[in-house]
This record gives sequence, structure tokens and C-alpha cells, in this order.
Amino acid sequence: MSTAFGQSTVLGYPRIGPNRELKRAVEAYWAGKIDAGALEGFAAGLRADLWRTLRDARLGAIPSNMFSYYDHMLDTAVAVGAVPDRFRRLGLSDLDTYFAMARGVDTEPALELTKWFATNYHYLVPEIDPNTSFTANPQKALREFAEARALGITTRPVLVGPATFLLLSKGADPFARLDDLVEVYAKILAALAEAGVAWVQLDEPAYCMNRTPAQISALRAVYDRLGALEHRPRIFVATYFGEVGNALPALLATPVEALGLDFVAAPGNLARLAGAGPIPRRTIVAGLVDGHNVWRTDLRAAASLGATLNGLADAVAVSTSCSLMHVPVDLDAEPDLDARLRARLAFARQKVDEVVLLGRALRDGIAVLPPPAPAAPAAWRDESVRARLDALRPEHTRRGAYAERAAAQQARLHLPPLPTTTIGSFPQTAGLREARAEHRAGRLDTSAYEHRMRAEIAYVIDLQERLGLDVLVHGEPERNDMVQYFGEQLGGFAATINGWVQSYGSRCVRPPIIYGDVTRVAPMTVGWSAYAQSLTNRPVKGMLTGPVTILAWSFVRNDQPLAETANQVALALRDECHDLEAAGIRIIQVDEPALRETLPLRRADQKAYLDWAVGAFRLATSGVADATQIHTHLCYSEFGEVLPAIDALDADVTSIEASRSKMEILDDLRAAGYARGIGPGVWDIHSPRVPGQDEVVDALDRAVAVVPADRLWVNPDCGLKTRDYPEVEASLTHLVAAAAQVRAG
Ligand code: GLN
Ligand code: ZN
Repeated sequence: MSTAFGQSTVLGYPRIGPNRELKRAVEAYWAGKIDAGALEGFAAGLRADLWRTLRDARLGAIPSNMFSYYDHMLDTAVAVGAVPDRFRRLGLSDLDTYFAMARGVDTEPALELTKWFATNYHYLVPEIDPNTSFTANPQKALREFAEARALGITTRPVLVGPATFLLLSKGADPFARLDDLVEVYAKILAALAEAGVAWVQLDEPAYCMNRTPAQISALRAVYDRLGALEHRPRIFVATYFGEVGNALPALLATPVEALGLDFVAAPGNLARLAGAGPIPRRTIVAGLVDGHNVWRTDLRAAASLGATLNGLADAVAVSTSCSLMHVPVDLDAEPDLDARLRARLAFARQKVDEVVLLGRALRDGIAVLPPPAPAAPAAWRDESVRARLDALRPEHTRRGAYAERAAAQQARLHLPPLPTTTIGSFPQTAGLREARAEHRAGRLDTSAYEHRMRAEIAYVIDLQERLGLDVLVHGEPERNDMVQYFGEQLGGFAATINGWVQSYGSRCVRPPIIYGDVTRVAPMTVGWSAYAQSLTNRPVKGMLTGPVTILAWSFVRNDQPLAETANQVALALRDECHDLEAAGIRIIQVDEPALRETLPLRRADQKAYLDWAVGAFRLATSGVADATQIHTHLCYSEFGEVLPAIDALDADVTSIEASRSKMEILDDLRAAGYARGIGPGVWDIHSPRVPGQDEVVDALDRAVAVVPADRLWVNPDCGLKTRDYPEVEASLTHLVAAAAQVRAG
């Protein structure tokens, strides 16, 4: 049997359109400005443009069913009939049921949103229970296949594979439903074959994490079953984001015709493959072009890896390491970027050219490859930063003993037990956003802009004093985004104008690109914080984003270890802490909401990551006096394997999300030996609901049972930027009153 696959392919492509067209269309539909027919027609146009683009680029094998109105996990849930009854009951059209699952309606909260592996993309978590009755709904895949075929383009439909789908779902043991689900995939595959589909792509990235032997044999059973179908397309199982581990022999033992491996995130896949013995009648789809970062590929190195793979398998096709949805669409939309930087970058469109070229090189030899990118300009190195890092000694990441710090801080801060505070941001009103946009567009001059921001800070300080909070914040009105704000000011960072990447649904972010050594050109936050502090006698917290989070939400250098870049960022933050202190700031909060989300997928890699992550945080925060209080903030409550690292950050106070998990986290932290200040969130700011005073008292009562009152802080779960002022005032009034009530005992 021939396994003709095509020399080159991509695992997926951005679906938002070159200028976020899909965002505008979907939001117009939500706002009732266009009807379903108009939205569908618009989406079909976007898909057609994309297929033509991929065809014209001479991509060997073109995927379809990679489009989504919101999220590909949600699409897969719909394709297998996993629509929870609570949404079916609403009696809406298919499209509106879909959006109800994604966004919720008045009476029904949406599906939970969570991180897609270690990326900044968020998927909707399917709800599966023992009664979920799976049904095959291949219509979307069939429709896209037919649309492309009408253009003369034969495509390969993509679906999330059944094992990964259930491993990422929630409910009472979703994975136990695998046998049922596979039968539905069998029906979908049969329908695709019937329509003339020759290849289907089933994504199983969940197998790039540690899996139990039972989960591995279940994977094998899935593909044995699907492989045994009489009428089916050829099956391409794609893995990405890491090493396949024991899933490799399992998959090779099944009849699947092609297997995708990520050689960018996991060079170790090569040894795995070499150790797997002969691989007859199989296509290896080699992820050689990084789908998760923006750098041009070292084509010669990739081609030589491709040649090695050629010696191991009957057939090799070149691909991206993962879907290109994690990078911006087109570098051609960035004419203003420094030409030397541009010469080193490749966005999705350019990466398609790279896989095509590499596919040709695999067949015709490396003479077809263009010359390599020029070496990075010397000006991107900063010897002084490098010298400082070389001179680092352990004492640079160590502070005095906590007991002494706590005493020195209390002598200076005079805080009551159960001090009240917030996480940093206050509502980002339409007026604020408009002022920032006007300033960026040059229609509002800098002094008028600063005047506007100062007025906002004064308002927020006054409000907090009126509400009776103990530790104040300046409200972060000047920040568009907690990473972008620093990226725009640090040396070694570049901002794009159109480098949008889907974060979830219609929401896109524009991550900065770290291309050179990181330097602090000037103080970044001191002016705003010092102004806020000048308005009040109560302590105002300085507010910084931590090194790990800055890296996690940026495109990072791939020419040096992440740890090195993290330490460079940390030095800049350390200098900022120093200047904040000198300006009279007594408390500095360094947010690390991304600490957990960039945890490597494989357990074997986690310790090294946590070591450098903790080290960078400590480098950033340990230069201050004992009497300066360091806070950190983490946006989740299931710490799991990062629990010891949270303790190792050595912050004086840690604020965390806790309201939804009913304070359980406090026991976990105590069990892990954490014995410093802790602020479990007592108000779930993700919901517009205003918590009552009694509710906050209940939460605090539970907390004081576990944490001594002199170490317990009272704060919301996260920043308030997405809330509005009436909710914020009401909720904070209850929060302050509840703290007073519990203090009074
Ligand atoms: N200080 C930030 C804020 O309040 C923290 C945001 C976050 O944790 N994601 O908005
Ligand atoms: Zn948060």
C-alpha cells in the first residue's frame, strides 16, 4: 500500500485571519449586528483564502477542519455529541448552543476555560459523565472538506484524537468512556472515507506527558480499533509539545499510517525513533519547524535531521512542530520592525515556506536551501548585564531570616491583623482604554495622557481610603497588559503592530519578542507608584510582573537557555525594586501568575524548570532591605507539583486564588511547610457576583482556623480590571467589614 502523504505539511494554521477578521465577524454576530448566515458566509471566505494561500505556497498536504468559531476542543465535543444537557435544554440553534457552551448565558455558566498544554491558548473543557451519549456529527469536517474540494484542493481533516479528548475533559472519570467514544470516531472516519477523504489527522498531544501504562495500552487499543476499520481514511496521529515516550512503541504497533513527532520541543524523539527498530510502511511526519516560536528555522540543521530520519523510516514528510496557531500570521504585516530582526523571524506564512523548502531539500538535497540568516548583531549583546550575571553568588538570591524580616516590616508598616488589600488593578474603564489608544495614536500628547492617568490614580487612592483598605494599590491604569507594559520599556524586547495570536475565543494577544540581552533603559513603574504613595500615608504596593510570567507571555530567544533570559529580566526587576524602595515604597508585589502554566509537560524536566524559575524570582526580589515587604500573586489554587516552589519563592506574602476551592489550598500550603504571609482570595472576581459580608466572614473563619491571624491577609482572588466600579465598591465594602468583624472575634 502506498502511503503517499506529501512532502510537506503543517499541523494547523491561525484561524483568526490575517487581520483578526474572524474576531470582528464573531463579535458582530454576538452583538446582533450580523446574522448567522452572514457569519457563516464570512467564515467560509476566510477558509477559502487560507486554503488558496497554502496551495499557492505549494504545501504538499493541506489540512482542513482546523477552522473554529471559538475553540477546537469545543468543535470536537460537538463532533462527538458531547453537548451537556444543560445547554441542550436551552433549545437554541446549533450555532447558538455552541456559543452558549463557549460563553455561557444568563442562566448557564460556560464550560470551564483552561490552558492548552504549556501554551497561552485556552480551550474549553468538555464535560463528560457516565450518561453522555456520544453521537457522530461529522458535518463540520465534511463541509470543510467539500468547500476545499470545490476549489480543487484536497485536504486532510484534523480532529483532536479520542484519547486526548477524554484526558482533557472533566467529569466523573471521562477516560472510562473511551470505548464508547472510539465507536463514534469510527463512524466519523467512515463518513469521511465515504466522502472521499484519503487522510485524517488525529491529534494526541496528551501523550507527550507522563501517562500510566493503562493509558498507554488504551491508546494502542484505540488505534488498533480505528485501524481495523474496513472503510476509513489513512490515519495520521500527530503528537506535539514534547517527547512521545512510551506512546511511540504503542502507536507503532497499531496500523496507523503516519505518525507526527515534535523534534523542536523534544529533540529526544530522534533517539526514541532510532531505538524503536525498523519502521516499515509508515510515514514519519517530522515537526522540524517551530510552531510555538517566531524564529526562522536553521534550515540546514533541520534538513540534516530530516536526512537522518529518512534513514529510519520508509517515508518522511516535513511539518511544523505543532499547529501554527501559536504564532502570528504574517511577518509581511510588520514593515516597521528593525530589518535585522525581521531577517531572523518567521511567522505562520513564512513557516509554511520553510516546510515546503525543507520538503524539497529532503528530496533534492540541501542545494535548494537559501543561505542562513546573518548572525545576530553585536549590538544585541549587553556586556554589562552578562558581567553582572557572571558575578552572581548565592547570597544575591537570599534574604534575611523571615522572622527578622517580618519584625522589621511590622515595625515600619504597623498593620492590623488580617490586613486588607487588593491584587493591583482597578477597573479598566472605557475612558482609560480610549486615553491609551489616543496616546498611542498620537492624538493625546504625553503630558495630557499622564495627567489623565494621575487623575485616575488619585481617584483610586481616595476610593481605597474611603473604603478603609489597609494596603493600597495605584490601580494600574497605565497598563494595557501586565507583560506588554514591561516589554515596551525593556531593552532587548520588540513589539509588533499586528502580531496577534489567539488566546481564547475571539480574544487575541500580541506577545512581545525578546531578541537581545534584556536591559532596563529607565525606571518603568517608579513614577506612578511614587505619585500614588505621595497621596496617602497608608502603604501603596509597588507592582511588577515577575520574570517567569514575562517570559511565558513573550516569544523567547531560542539561542540561549531560558534560565539566562529569565535572569536578565530578573536583574532589570531587581533594579526596579531598588528604585521603588528609594522612592519610599514599602511593599512590592511581583506577580507570577504563569509560574505553573509553563511547567514542562514531562516530570523529568520539571525540577530544572522550577529551579531556574524560583532562582529568577529570588534574584528579582532579594535585593531589598529586610523591612521592605515582598508580595507575590498567583492566579490559581491547584498548585500540585509547584507547591514546594511557591514556598521557595520566599515571598513575605503570597496571594492566591482560593474562593472557588473553598480555602482548601491553605491546608496544602501548610502541609508543604509554607509559613509566611498568605492572602487566600475571598472574592471570586471572575464572576460579576458581589459577595455578601457573611460569605467573606465564612471564608475568613475557615482561613483563621488554619493560618494564624497575624499572617493572614484579606484580598480578592485576582486583579479587578475586568469588573466595574459599582461591583468593586460593594464587594470591597463587604470585604473590609468582614475583616473587621473577624478581627473583633
Ligand atoms: N497585578 C495584576 C492585576 O491586578 C495581576 C494580574 C494577574 O494576576 N493576572 O491585574
Ligand atoms: Zn491573578
